[in-house]
Amino acid sequence: MDVLEIYRESGALLTGHFLLKSGKHSPYFLQSAAVFQYPRHARVLGEALARHFADLEVDFVIGPAIGGVILAYVVAEHLGVRGIFAEKDGNGGMFIRPGLVAERGERFLAVEDVVTTGGSVRRAIEAAEARGAELVGVGAVVDRSQHPLDFGVPFRALARFPVESYDPPECPHCQRGEPLVKV
Ligand SMILES: [Zn+2]
Repeated sequence: MDVLEIYRESGALLTGHFLLKSGKHSPYFLQSAAVFQYPRHARVLGEALARHFADLEVDFVIGPAIGGVILAYVVAEHLGVRGIFAEKDGNGGMFIRPGLVAERGERFLAVEDVVTTGGSVRRAIEAAEARGAELVGVGAVVDRSQHPLDFGVPFRALARFPVESYDPPECPHCQRGEPLVKV
């Protein structure tokens, strides 16, 4: 499966000058919501990612809101388990809202659409660990990281797209005065 072709075809591969969630600037942005607006794409990607973790026994899948909500759901659907999400708590962390089940001793998989530094998925992991659950794997649709990410458990991505991203002082697009788009 050509994941990046799905992004291109969905109009989800944007070019310009973007401020990523990680704080870095990049000439590319992958707008996964444009892919996931098509349930058929979401299902295919969710199934492909779930296959990587079929041998791990998990009790639930969690993703960071907003990007990880639909992905966690479709991966969970294929694994036959619960799919939940964590959301920002306003203090730099994430929480799991009451009523979503994540319990002590349960094993979970954490997923995110696109990882660059892995910051968002790590905060979702911490939210589930705060409930006493145990991380057993991390999955992403696209791995944009320039250096291998280490979560201490198996990490699998459907595609690698390690494009340049810059700390703001070194950004050539800033130096050329190109307007920055927050994403
Ligand atoms: Zn810049």
